[in-house]
Amino acid sequence: RARKRFGQNFLHDPQVIGRIVKAIAPKPNDVLVEIGPGLGALTEPVAEIARHLTVVELDRDLAERLQQHPQLADKLTIYQADAMKFDFTSLVKNGQKMKVFGNLPYNISTPLLFHLFQYADLIENMHFMLQKEVVQRMTATHGSKAFGRLSVMTQYYCEAIPVVQVGPGAFKPAPKVDSAVVRLIPRAIASRAPVAAEVLNRVCLEAFNQRRKTLRNCFSNFATAEQIEQLGLNPGLRPEQLSVDDFIHIAQWLQQQESGL
Ligand code: SAM
Repeated sequence: RARKRFGQNFLHDPQVIGRIVKAIAPKPNDVLVEIGPGLGALTEPVAEIARHLTVVELDRDLAERLQQHPQLADKLTIYQADAMKFDFTSLVKNGQKMKVFGNLPYNISTPLLFHLFQYADLIENMHFMLQKEVVQRMTATHGSKAFGRLSVMTQYYCEAIPVVQVGPGAFKPAPKVDSAVVRLIPRAIASRAPVAAEVLNRVCLEAFNQRRKTLRNCFSNFATAEQIEQLGLNPGLRPEQLSVDDFIHIAQWLQQQESGL
């Protein structure tokens, strides 16, 4: 029986599972990490290809079941742990980056994504099943309604591409929402603008805290209208009109201001 508090909706549609595994495209020697393997719907087909797989599952009963799984047990390293608190650093082997995937618990998807972004430099790519609306927010471009903090933070760390659309019927129990799989490819550190993620996140929180405010109003805690103009931005614009690069530019400026204090 599925546990609601763990966001359990198990995949059971073989066609959908096949499409997701194809998108993940595991190779035998990959360092593969699955978050929330549950009953193994994705674990089994991935383990058919991979030599080894690390899984992080919070539910003790499910972790034990996987431990006893006749075909999987030898190939798996199982951590019964909370993925939001898990330190992924130790999983990188001989400098080989991880491929992370999972059908994530939707109730904690945003904090879990933010936790994983901290390990972006150790990750080759990620494939996650999420609520479709969350994937839309992650992949939104400025000017669109879905553009917000999740878009800026995701696209600062990663290139984000929607790869599979999934209806509620593919899961048991069926969720109330549509789902989608997103592919996240972390940007190389060298190509990422030098800015503290914490500052960028703070700028986004101020910006999107109240929709329909102008830059002049939403940034009034840290910048005057004049300073916004000096950054090359019209203080009468609304935050959703700014590009990811504009946000990075503002955060870099703020970081400099604060370090100068
Ligand atoms: N991968 C399975 C599938 O596709 O059928 C299960 C997906 S289900 C949506 C989410 C899984 O994540 C469940 O197995 C749940 O117990 C697990 N889970 C929930 N919260 C977690 C957390 N904080 N850390 C690790 N796993 C978690």
